[in-house]
Amino acid sequence: MIPAAPAGLQPEPVPATGVRWQQLWRDAIRDPAELLALLGLASVVDASAAAAAQFALRVPRGFAARMRHGDPHDPLLRQVLPVDDELRLVPGFSLDAVGDAPARAGHGVIHKYEGRALLVATGSCAVHCRYCFRRHFPYADETAAAGQWQASLEAVRADASLHEVILSGGDPLSLSTPKLAELTEALAGVPHVRRLRIHTRLPIVLPERVDDALRDWLLGLPWPVAIVVHANHAHEFDAGVDAAMARLRTTGATLLNQAVLLRGVNDSVDALADLSTRSFDAGVLPYYLHQLDRVAGAAHFEVHDDEALRLHATLRQQLSGYLLPRLVREVAGEASKRPL
Ligand SMILES: *Cc1c(COP(=O)(O)O)cnc(C)c1O
Ligand code: SF4
Repeated sequence: MIPAAPAGLQPEPVPATGVRWQQLWRDAIRDPAELLALLGLASVVDASAAAAAQFALRVPRGFAARMRHGDPHDPLLRQVLPVDDELRLVPGFSLDAVGDAPARAGHGVIHKYEGRALLVATGSCAVHCRYCFRRHFPYADETAAAGQWQASLEAVRADASLHEVILSGGDPLSLSTPKLAELTEALAGVPHVRRLRIHTRLPIVLPERVDDALRDWLLGLPWPVAIVVHANHAHEFDAGVDAAMARLRTTGATLLNQAVLLRGVNDSVDALADLSTRSFDAGVLPYYLHQLDRVAGAAHFEVHDDEALRLHATLRQQLSGYLLPRLVREVAGEASKRPL
């Protein structure tokens, strides 16, 4: 997702209801040994207990099923497996890598760029990505604090320059659909809001989240909607994800993908080209290819800028223009993402 500091809106714990995606959420793999055994890698790969203690492993079973059995270098596995490399202290890699803390405009609202602001809807995610800023904010484990939505809405209402609200987190679709509906009903009363954007990895990692209730909620929204999913590798798409995207498209939402350039995951022309074409096959247009946020514990994922530019230049030759993501970096204090 978009990096965001822990903020006023606290996550609700996923409630124990009969909703299928919530059952799958709770059934996620949390034990690195179990994941490695499932993949036939128990005697081949060591997970790092110390890294897992800092930021727990969490991966939905359906996502794990897309990993290649017996491949210790699987690009999906690398995104979620705690490893000792995370414990290295590397100069330049810090806790608030993108300067969110100074950009807080109100409870749960981060306003950095003109016309649009992030609303931090929740801290919870269905998957824990090792390269993510969230590793330093264990706020997903806190309990819900009632009454905080109001402060976020007030911040949006008070600034008439805000035409787009971006639901972010964590993963905003980890909130229950009734909770999302509560939020958007309140937002609908703010006249200067004209667009809604949702940054979410859930349709990729737990496509069952895109159920009838979610579709109905999206269909009922009063604004044009953009949904930015987050897939880093073509293997993250399967038939279930295709079905989820097809269903999202029936709501009229525009579907975009943002990826992070990650060493050992997608740092080759072939991997990036496959990601773009596979996304498009699912009805999703490439949006951003992000250079890694320099978050402590993620240095082993970094791809040097020269290499990133070389990859991007080759991609430009190979892909149709609309399949080429914009290569950007987030720089604290700047007025937009910075093109490389
Ligand atoms: C990335 C980001 C956005 C969205 O930027 P776009 O270039 O419009 O995708 C908005 N607000 C914040 C705080 C962000 O970090
Ligand atoms: S889904 Fe992964 S990348 Fe997105 S906010 Fe959660 S942990 Fe970070």
